[in-house]
Amino acid sequence: MSPQRRFGLRNKIVVVPMGEIDYSLINKLASQLVSYFSVGVDVLQGVKIPHEAFNHQRGQYYSTVILSKLELMKSAPGEKILGLVDDDLYIPSQNFVIGGADPHGKSAVVSLFRLKRENYEMMDEEKLLFSRVLKEALHQLGYLWGFKDCRNPKCVMYVTDNVMEVDRKGTKFCDNCLRRMKVQH
Ligand SMILES: [Zn+2]
Repeated sequence: MSPQRRFGLRNKIVVVPMGEIDYSLINKLASQLVSYFSVGVDVLQGVKIPHEAFNHQRGQYYSTVILSKLELMKSAPGEKILGLVDDDLYIPSQNFVIGGADPHGKSAVVSLFRLKRENYEMMDEEKLLFSRVLKEALHQLGYLWGFKDCRNPKCVMYVTDNVMEVDRKGTKFCDNCLRRMKVQH
């Protein structure tokens, strides 16, 4: 059974490209999300990354500020908003973050910045970057649908701090995560 049928994830995902970003990758991600969740995915016209999120000292964007801006966007009930940025994100307690989500809200954000770096010798660069972006998008959307952090390093809900860990995990929610969700729903 598809995750959509299993969890009744009938609501749309709205993808918001932010700043300068590769639109062909965004469109590919959107169509992958359509088939993964059997859910409608809209790609909005690009918006600027909110300048108030930029920290001049760090040269990075504060992900929480970006999320709070995405939260303000109009949306139908149940819709989830996924922002994608090419710039580096941070939260004050960490040097950087690959992405973030507001588990009590409707929005998530993923940065390509760290996913583009390192470890390319193994595979075709474009293919590898896409699989990293997909995993992190699924991970952040997972929080919005009620999935929690998972200890299984192969599970898409495993929390990753670097690209090696991202490459090691898969694109699937593990049986434990699926079971936990089933109990909740
Ligand atoms: Zn899991």
